[in-house]
Amino acid sequence: EKSPLSLLGLGAMGGALARAWLAAGHPLTVWNRTPERAEALEGARAAATAAEAVAASDLVVVCLLDHASVGEALADADLSGKDLVDLTTGTPEEARSRARWAEERGARFLDGGVMAVPPMVGVPGSGAYVFYSGSRAVFEAHAGTLAVPAATVYTGEDPGLAALHDVALLSAMTGMFAGVAHAFALVREEIPPKGFADLVVGWLKAMAPYAYGVADHLDSGDYTKNVTSNLAMMVRGNATLLRTAEEQKVSPELLTPFMTLMERRLADGHAGEGTTGVIDLLRVP
Ligand code: NDP
Repeated sequence: EKSPLSLLGLGAMGGALARAWLAAGHPLTVWNRTPERAEALEGARAAATAAEAVAASDLVVVCLLDHASVGEALADADLSGKDLVDLTTGTPEEARSRARWAEERGARFLDGGVMAVPPMVGVPGSGAYVFYSGSRAVFEAHAGTLAVPAATVYTGEDPGLAALHDVALLSAMTGMFAGVAHAFALVREEIPPKGFADLVVGWLKAMAPYAYGVADHLDSGDYTKNVTSNLAMMVRGNATLLRTAEEQKVSPELLTPFMTLMERRLADGHAGEGTTGVIDLLRVP
């Protein structure tokens, strides 16, 4: 006997979550702003309103576009006694404010950040997982149900922690996307994309442990520790990257913000560091 739940939001991610819970045999009540998406979902009970979906189960999961849409969708719902789990991507402050909002309405609150794209959801071994933060009681009470669509990682009672982990990883990914875009722009006329993609993936995997070096610098406070590529050399190398962009008629705009920070750190007298010192320059006073 699997425990029932309600899910609000059947977009790409919500739909994938719904199919995972249905496949695992959980009785599922769903609501979506555009009702056709709820009606099309075989095996689920479609609620006519968000309030009706909330009323149907003790565990209510929402996965909507953004923070504002969650407030709108739940405006008329009676949340007293409910366990609300919000898998909508938002900021740490939005999660904390949603937690206070839910508690004022008598609900226990757990925020989540989904580290997966929809095709990974409900697929064991896909690497999909969800960061959770907020009510540990909610996380523990529904541990089995929450583990159905993806692995779970509880990050702490502060409701903002899941969003902070989630958005920090998305931010690292954004830098990677920018670098990959620039690289393809450089080569697109001369190197076949598929073969080049193999090279990009191999290179980025080989370079990814760079993050451990950064962590070691931040832990020790010594930004020159084990540096194999020093800042003075890298700033000189940046000029080569920029001249190549110019030769290939590619805009340098994705590279220059980071390079400008490296130059500032070098000008401040840190030639023997790697790039960890850039982190200090990013802190807004
Ligand atoms: P979609 O654009 O596919 O779906 C958005 C959902 O939000 C739809 O159900 C839509 O309803 C609903 N919605 C939008 N605005 C409102 C509103 N004002 N009131 C009520 N419902 C509203 O997005 P995804 O499903 O891809 O993403 C949902 C969440 O999951 C986002 O926060 C996203 O960041 C997160 N996520 C998505 C990932 C992905 O790769 N797709 C990866 C990790 C997290 P309607 O059908 O009526 O338009």
